Amino acid sequence: MLAVENIHTYYGNIQSLKGVSISVKEGEICTLIGSNGAGKTTLLRTIQGLLRPREGRIFFNQKPIESLSTEQIVNLGISQSPEGRLIFPKMSVLENLEMGAFSRRDRLNIKSDIEKILTLFPRLRERITQKAGTMSGGEQQMLAMGRALMARPKLLLLDEPSMGLAPILVNQIFDIIQDINQEGMTILLVEQNARKALKIAKTGYVLQTGKVVKSGSAKELQSDPEVRRIYLGEE
Ligand code: ATP
Repeated sequence: MLAVENIHTYYGNIQSLKGVSISVKEGEICTLIGSNGAGKTTLLRTIQGLLRPREGRIFFNQKPIESLSTEQIVNLGISQSPEGRLIFPKMSVLENLEMGAFSRRDRLNIKSDIEKILTLFPRLRERITQKAGTMSGGEQQMLAMGRALMARPKLLLLDEPSMGLAPILVNQIFDIIQDINQEGMTILLVEQNARKALKIAKTGYVLQTGKVVKSGSAKELQSDPEVRRIYLGEE
C-alpha cells in the first residue's frame, strides 16, 4: 500500500533522513521505533507532504505522492494524528471532530462516524462542548486521533499516540489501535513504547540517526538482542 524509497529529508542543510526505505502492506500495523531524534516524526511528516524530500520517492497504492500537497495526500486516503497537541484549541471537541471530515464527500455518514469515535473515546463524549485547548494533554491526544479517524483514511499515521497518557489510558489506546486495525485500517505507528508497539504490530523498522538499521516482522524484532537491549530496556 505504501512504499517509501530512499528518502532524503533536510531541515535547512541538516539532513534528518538519509536514504530511508520502508513498505507498509494493506491491512497491517507497521511500527517505527527509534530513539529521540532518530527521524520518526520527520518520516511521517514527509509521507504526509508536510516536508518535501530532497531525494527519493513515495508511492501510495502505486501512485507517486512525493510531489503532492498535503490536501491531495489526505484526499487519497492518508491521514495523520500528530505528536503533541495539534488540535484547534479555540474550537470545541465536536467542532474539531467535524473538521477532521473536511475532505470527505460522503457527508451523510459523518454523524454516525462521530458517534463511533465518541464510543471509542468516552472521555471525548463527556467533553464534547469543551474548548479543545482547555483539555488535558492526554485528552487532546485522544482528540487528535479521533480527528484523524474522521477523515476515514485508508492509511492512518499515528505519531506517539500514547504520549502523555496515564498507564490505564495507554492500554486503552493500544486496544483502540488494534480494534480499528481489525476493522480494516492500515496503520503506521510511531511509538516510544516499543514493547507495546511491537506486541500489536505485524512488522517494524528501527530508525537510528536518519537510517533504517533493522527491519522485519514484529516477532523477529522482539527477539533481536540489540532491540531488546536498546529499545526494550532489557539486560
Ligand atoms: P522523538 O522521538 O524525539 O520525537 P523523532 O525520531 O521523531 O524523535 P524527529 O523529530 O524526526 O525525531 O527529528 C529528527 C532530527 O531532525 C532531530 O535531530 C531533530 O533535532 C531534527 N529536527 C526536527 N525538526 C526540526 C526542525 N524543524 N528544524 C531543524 N531540525 C529539526
